[in-house]
Amino acid sequence: MLSGGPGSGKGTQCARIVETFGFKHLSAGDLLRKEVVSASEYGTMILDTIREGRIVPSAVTVKLILREMESSDNHKFLIDGFPRSEENRIAFERITGSEPDFVLFFDCPEEEMVKRVLSRNQGRIDDNIDTIKKRLKVFEALNLPVVDHYEKRGKLHRVGKFTS
Ligand code: AMP
Repeated sequence: MLSGGPGSGKGTQCARIVETFGFKHLSAGDLLRKEVVSASEYGTMILDTIREGRIVPSAVTVKLILREMESSDNHKFLIDGFPRSEENRIAFERITGSEPDFVLFFDCPEEEMVKRVLSRNQGRIDDNIDTIKKRLKVFEALNLPVVDHYEKRGKLHRVGKFTS
């Protein structure tokens, strides 16, 4: 699994990791955006949630990830941007009965993340300063406890700034 705040470089590095190690890449954000475009029953709710920088309910995200895992021939998965919260993590572990072997965390300074998101020009509705501020708050409140959990389990590999 790969974790990091908005603009920390998850997508870019996932492409490289996949190329080098042959994982099947599953990006929670990309799967949710695909669901919006495909006009699924959850489309409007997902779009509103992304626009607000909030977290889509675990039931929906876990279902999308599992669907991709089950339909893939590959048995090595690189799951990016998930779990985003303890609720995500617990739901995933309960449903799959498994834990990640390895969690990579991009510990990127906030100013750098803001700068990168504002300059990436990918046409995303959530790449504006108001939504970024909300995404950063959500990241700190909900995602960092997941990072702490994996650190305690000895699974976390941190890239970037170090604290003692
Ligand atoms: P990302 O592409 O990873 O930056 O995700 C963009 C947006 O998709 C987030 O701000 C959330 O609104 C939503 N999202 C991404 N991953 C998840 C997840 N694991 N659970 C719920 N919502 C998510």
